[in-house]
Amino acid sequence: MQSSRRHFMILAASLASSVALSGKASAETPAVSESDPTAQALGFKTDATHVDKAKYPKYLAGQACANCQLYQGKPGDASGPCPIFSGKQVPTKGWCSAYVKKA
Ligand code: SF4
Repeated sequence: MQSSRRHFMILAASLASSVALSGKASAETPAVSESDPTAQALGFKTDATHVDKAKYPKYLAGQACANCQLYQGKPGDASGPCPIFSGKQVPTKGWCSAYVKKA
């Protein structure tokens, strides 16, 4: 009994560490924060529907990182890289004033 309990504890510990490791890849590239100075300068929002339309009249409903020329995420991903925010991830639903409609 003692032995099976120890075996269970070892199994649980190894499962926990493998879960932690598998989550590491996405955690390596941080998400862009709206409070980031570049984000603030470009009116970046993690949700395009929250864009200040008075300040950014060029924003049109439907525009989002997912259909921006600069977005480099893979189809199906919830977020991806953008050269404007080097080393960070932007969400597909996001938007900033550097938006360029994907051709
Ligand atoms: Fe999103 Fe395009 Fe702005 Fe990058 S440049 S944050 S992909 S809208």
